[in-house]
Amino acid sequence: MNKTKKILLSEKEIPEKWYNIQADMPNPTLPPLHPGTKQPVGPEDLAPLFPMELIKQEVSKERWIDIPEEVRDVYKIWRPSPLFRAYDFEKLLGTPAKIYYKYEGVSPAGSHKPNTAVPQAYYNKMEGVKRLTTETGAGQWGSALSFACNHFGIDLEVYMVKVSYDQKPYRKSMMKTWGANVFSSPTDKTESGRKILAEDPNSPGSLGIAISEAVERAAKDGGTKYSLGSVLNHVLMHQTVIGLEAIKQMEIAGDFPDIVVGCFGGGSNFGGISFPFLGLNFREGKKVRAIAAEPSSCPKLTKGQFRYDFGDTVGLTPLIPMYTLGHTFIPEPIHAGGLRYHGAGAIVSQLLKDKLIEAQAFHQLECFDAGVKFARTEGIIPAPESTHAIAAVVKEALKAKEEGTSKTILFNLSGHGYFDMSAYDAYFSGKLVEHHLTEEELHADLKKLNTPTIE
Ligand SMILES: *Cc1c(COP(=O)(O)O)cnc(C)c1O
Repeated sequence: MNKTKKILLSEKEIPEKWYNIQADMPNPTLPPLHPGTKQPVGPEDLAPLFPMELIKQEVSKERWIDIPEEVRDVYKIWRPSPLFRAYDFEKLLGTPAKIYYKYEGVSPAGSHKPNTAVPQAYYNKMEGVKRLTTETGAGQWGSALSFACNHFGIDLEVYMVKVSYDQKPYRKSMMKTWGANVFSSPTDKTESGRKILAEDPNSPGSLGIAISEAVERAAKDGGTKYSLGSVLNHVLMHQTVIGLEAIKQMEIAGDFPDIVVGCFGGGSNFGGISFPFLGLNFREGKKVRAIAAEPSSCPKLTKGQFRYDFGDTVGLTPLIPMYTLGHTFIPEPIHAGGLRYHGAGAIVSQLLKDKLIEAQAFHQLECFDAGVKFARTEGIIPAPESTHAIAAVVKEALKAKEEGTSKTILFNLSGHGYFDMSAYDAYFSGKLVEHHLTEEELHADLKKLNTPTIE
């Protein structure tokens, strides 16, 4: 039998425009609010942190936004990324479902993150910015932005969540190779960091805390701006190159997905793979189900509240309308560092509220179990974050088997796990623990919240 396993596009087929789902959403997102005045933020409020072009993209309602030639040129290093049919994984699961995956681990940093790091560094460069600050969890975003800043000649300061800084030393080395300065967050370099350390000198850190530190640094220095690797509208839009390529590749495969899956930290790789398909739902009446897979230990989509909340722990960012566990929620130090975030992007939150997407939560052990099964059949060792998407695929594929229906499932393999082998070691030696959040732990931070509610 002549089975096509890998579907490739040529360099010419790298998308020329990003897809902006804000043009097609049935209900627009609510505006972000100024943390002080509680009024909608304007471009001038965001100007100290972001270059104007990104601020424009953040609020744009244009359906298609041109990708600059300079950005497409850098994309050529790894794009278009391959799309695979997972025949052996299907066989192992004994499912009638057809499983496809888009592999973003082929980028220099090993994940989907350079898809937005490159345009962000580019627009900052064009507007004369000399230095960027950012946070990183597991180190994937920090390494992606290090790569991009190095390419465009911008200095970079990275605040890396302490637990990851200690668990993932090689991500640190990678960032240094690309010329970045990396600090273990909370640091004593910022007021935000000092405040957290005063409350808990052994704080494992969190993405929320690291964001506070990076934002504070940028806000206090005129020549410095800030860059975020997920959550914001423009970030999710840059990631739509994933889904736009996947639509073409599925066409070549002669197939179309019933279900599209992405793991969920702040929404960027999930939005990247699913938004172009949701656009077809909205404009052409297609019926693709989009599933976001999050960790049970940080279940903002499945157990959080839809309300205004800060993007960071200290409360320096605008208030964003989102599903949140409370900005002071510090998730357990699970190995999927990139998913340890209390909130979600505004677009994804609105879509979930409107029941246009679905969310499912998975425990760490079932994720690694799915990830190892995948590695033993398809070869690629997935990032711990990506194993959440695989766990969701397993669930849907087994459901299809039970029901005896043939489903076509497409998921985004957001990155490889070659810097995460200590997590796999922990799994094999039985040291990886299951953490079950109690109702009390879940609601403690939400109860404390005094940010505006919605409805
Ligand atoms: C950062 C990261 C994620 C989570 O972030 P999203 O913005 O939700 O995509 C998932 N997978 C990998 C490999 C990552 O690096």
